[in-house]
Amino acid sequence: MKYLSILGSTGSIGKSALDIVRMYPDRFQVKALTAANNIECFTKQIDEFKPELVCVFNEAKALELSRALKGTKQPRIVFGDEGYSEAASFEKSNAVLLAMVGAAGLKPALSAIESKKQVALANKETLVMAGDIVMAKARENGVSILPVDSEHSAVFQCLKGNRKKDLKTIFLTASGGPFREKPFEEFKDISLKDALNHPTWEMGHKITIDSATLMNKGLEIIEAVHLFDVCHEQIKVLIHPQSIVHSMVGFKDGSIMAQMGQPDMRGAISYALSGPERLDLKMEFPDFAALGSLTFETPDTKKFPSLLFAFEACRQKGTLPAVMNAANEVAVKAFLEKRIGFIDIFRLISRTMELHTRIDNPDLSGIIEADCWAREKALSLI
Ligand code: MG
Repeated sequence: MKYLSILGSTGSIGKSALDIVRMYPDRFQVKALTAANNIECFTKQIDEFKPELVCVFNEAKALELSRALKGTKQPRIVFGDEGYSEAASFEKSNAVLLAMVGAAGLKPALSAIESKKQVALANKETLVMAGDIVMAKARENGVSILPVDSEHSAVFQCLKGNRKKDLKTIFLTASGGPFREKPFEEFKDISLKDALNHPTWEMGHKITIDSATLMNKGLEIIEAVHLFDVCHEQIKVLIHPQSIVHSMVGFKDGSIMAQMGQPDMRGAISYALSGPERLDLKMEFPDFAALGSLTFETPDTKKFPSLLFAFEACRQKGTLPAVMNAANEVAVKAFLEKRIGFIDIFRLISRTMELHTRIDNPDLSGIIEADCWAREKALSLI
C-alpha cells in the first residue's frame, strides 16, 4: 500500500493524482494533503480522502479551512513553510508527490528526501534552483527521485532496460505553445487570454504561461541535466505540436527510443507512483491513422529566447539557474496580473540574469539569497 502525502493537491497535477487514488483505493491511501489558497476545492478533497494532516498557506487560511470543515473529525491543520515540510516528511506516509508550483517546492522536497520517502517530483523549479544539492541529498539518503514531468517520465521510461552509459542524446519535445506560428511582429499584441489558451495540455496558469514562452522547456532542460546526470549539450529540444511523443532518448548505436501516449498527466503520475507496474487508466491510445503524421521542428529561439537563457544558465551554473527561475516567476505573475506585456517576460528575465553577480557552488542559503535578490531586482525592473 502507498501512503501518500500530496503537496499541491488543488493544482492540476494534484487533482489528476487524486483521480488515480479514486480509481485504486486498494493501492493508495492519502495521509497528508496540502494546498495554498483554494479552500473550497481543498475542503471537498479533505472530505473525500480523509487525510490525517493538512497544510495551507498561512494562519488566516488555516482558520478559514477549520471553519469550512464541518465534519466531526477534523484532520490536524498546519500552515506555512514548516507545515509544508511537515506534510512532506509525515511519518504515516511512505511516498510524497511534490506538485506545488514554483520555488516554494524546494524546502518540502528536501524534507521528503531527508525522511527517505519515495519522491515523485512534479515541481521542476526544485531541480532548477538547487539541482546539485537536491540530487546529492537524494544519493546520500538512498532516495530515487521519480520524475512526474511528462518529458522526464518519458526519458526515464526509455532508459529502463538500457545502460545509462550508452545514452548519447535526450530529445525533449515541446508542443510549441499557442504562439508557435505567430509572427514575432505580433508578439507585442498577445493578450493574457491568448496566452492561457494552450493547444494540447490542460494545466495550471503558471505552467501554461511558461509553455507559451517556452520557458517551461527551458526549465525542463535544467531539470533533465540534474535528473539524468547529463551535460546540457546532450539535450536537444524539438517542437512537436501533436504532443504524442512525450520525449525520446538516443543511444550511441544510433537507436532511438520514444515514449508516446495521449497528452494526459495521469500516465506520468501513475508511473512515478507505481512503476514499473502499469496501472489500467482506461486511456485510449492515440489514433495514429486519424492523426496521419507526427511532425517535428527546430524551436525558433529568436521568438522564444527562453531556451537560450536556460542553456546559458546551464553553462554558467552556480546561482544563475535560481535567478533565471525567480525572475521568470516574478515576470509570469506580473503578466497574469496584466502589469506587463508578453515580450516583457523575456526582457525581464534576460535583464535580471545580466545584472546578477553569480556565485559558484552555492549552498542552500546562497541559493535562497540569490532567489530573493532576483525577485527584488525583477520587481524593481517592472
Ligand atoms: Mg513537461
